Amino acid sequence: MDTAQAVAEWAAENWHGDLTLAQWWQRLADAGYAFPSWPVGLGGLNASPGQARQISSALAAAGVIGPPVGNGPGMGGPTVLAHGTAEQQQRFVAPMAYGQEAWAQLFSEPGAGSDLASLATSAVRDGDEFVINGQKVWNSFADMADWGMLLARTDVDVPKHKGITYLMIDMNQPGVEVRPLVQMNGIAEFCEVFFTDARVPVANVIGAIGEGWNVARTTLAFERAGAGSGRAANTISVGAGSKAGNLQLPVGELVKRAKQEANDPTLRTEMLLSSRTLFKMARALGHGDDPALRDRLMRYHANSQVYSWTGQRGRDNAKTGRPGPEVSTLKLKIALLAHESRDLSMSMLGAEGMLMGDTTFEGGRIQRAALASPVPSLGGGTNEIQRNIIGEQALGLPREPSDDNVIPFRELRRS
Ligand SMILES: Cc1cc2nc3c(=O)[nH]c(=O)nc-3n(C[C@H](O)[C@H](O)[C@H](O)COP(=O)(O)OP(=O)(O)OC[C@H]3O[C@@H](n4cnc5c(N)ncnc54)[C@H](O)[C@@H]3O)c2cc1C
Repeated sequence: MDTAQAVAEWAAENWHGDLTLAQWWQRLADAGYAFPSWPVGLGGLNASPGQARQISSALAAAGVIGPPVGNGPGMGGPTVLAHGTAEQQQRFVAPMAYGQEAWAQLFSEPGAGSDLASLATSAVRDGDEFVINGQKVWNSFADMADWGMLLARTDVDVPKHKGITYLMIDMNQPGVEVRPLVQMNGIAEFCEVFFTDARVPVANVIGAIGEGWNVARTTLAFERAGAGSGRAANTISVGAGSKAGNLQLPVGELVKRAKQEANDPTLRTEMLLSSRTLFKMARALGHGDDPALRDRLMRYHANSQVYSWTGQRGRDNAKTGRPGPEVSTLKLKIALLAHESRDLSMSMLGAEGMLMGDTTFEGGRIQRAALASPVPSLGGGTNEIQRNIIGEQALGLPREPSDDNVIPFRELRRS
């Protein structure tokens, strides 16, 4: 029996609408179908990229809820698998695979975004613990997170990339304050996070103390791979962790809700529109015969197809180790597609593009997507930074001149 058929039979036997989400995710992880390329016992079965793809597609075809999504499985899990000890993998990766805990990425700071290695949040050793003070910002879903992947400075007397440590911080403790930030599309997806004498056991350091930059590069590579490669298969996604409030709900009810949301344009949140949606818009709004617009639409369609096929390659690479710089090409591509989708849709809508609300074309879906279109060109690193990565790491061009790899962090002039 081939893999797809085996998964389809397994799903038919194991999926029941009255299971709770926690029970379903447990079955999925125990079978190794949650994250097939991860190790046995941690939600996977050491599957090859090809097998993993077949499993994801078979689950999608079965109409079941897919594995937990978000920062944990997307970035934290692969990072701990690459750099963590066996105990750390058991402690942190297993609950990610079972969807029990949700994660935040606590990297960016008000003075450290593109230049992430300038981060100033401090971690000072106190016996078996580190004491954390400082501020992070733009942290997606931090208000839903149980744990955070934290980059903090443990040594100011060495150059900036060398004194950073990668720590797993419990978000549910005094000294961690999370404040959601509302974006221009009205959604509060990310947060700022303040630390005041928060504590992290030394046992929660991933990799060696002071060597966090290398560990962070793994997280960032997986983040770019996720942002650039889109979703693997069309499974139904549900938020993990206790704060999302889904774990005890019946999966049948969650699927019903997801379908209602998918069919209701007023509830859709997208960063870009498919070429099919743009074609539909052109016909509905009477632009179908405009040759200049048809040309742009066809170029958008061709670029979307190329992006989707190249994304497949990026996802496969990401499953076999740290993704390479090619994922920056993909991330850049989706950012450019999002901008083109915004420009095309707004030029078709005309003055109506300035209106919002349920009574506008497609229930405001088009305008909401336009307002979310800057997301892929910022989150996970800006377009300019992707171009630097492609230039330096893929094409072998010289690095930007800088002396900050020799000057101790405490002597650097910072904004
Ligand atoms: C939707 C979204 C989700 C995010 N989620 C998270 C998260 O979960 N966790 C987290 O830690 N962070 C997150 N971020 C933060 C994100 O990583 C930063 O916004 C990003 O790295 C840019 O940093 P910045 O905003 O400080 O801009 P800056 O670094 O101040 O950049 C400002 C401008 O200068 C340009 N620039 C800077 N340096 C160079 C250079 N060397 N060469 C050329 N141009 C340059 C930039 O490209 C940009 O146009 C998120 C951001 C967004 C938008």
